[in-house]
Amino acid sequence: MEFQSTRERIVEILRRTQRPLRVEEIAMILGLEPSRKREIYEHLTHIAKTIRRQSSGKEVLIMELPKCRDCGFIFKNLKKPKEPSRCPKCKSERIDPPRFKIVLISNK
Ligand SMILES: [Zn+2]
Repeated sequence: MEFQSTRERIVEILRRTQRPLRVEEIAMILGLEPSRKREIYEHLTHIAKTIRRQSSGKEVLIMELPKCRDCGFIFKNLKKPKEPSRCPKCKSERIDPPRFKIVLISNK
């Protein structure tokens, strides 16, 4: 029997999913408490940096950017995957969190 690390399981989930997933959804699939979202974000940060190399350039982690539900502001300047708590433009706290998926980038 083979055991996968949480990080490997996240990679598998993001490869198989048809649509980009929120971290909350990833936690649910893994059977983790929502309070462990932070941990998943750390894994995603690492996956974003390493997936291309690990897949020999075939795969990349894409992030659909978080967006303010009230004014439509898109958080384009994120340095790493995270959930912003407040919109800098209208101060709303109703933010759509980022979504993630691993996609193939070449058919070589
Ligand atoms: Zn806003």
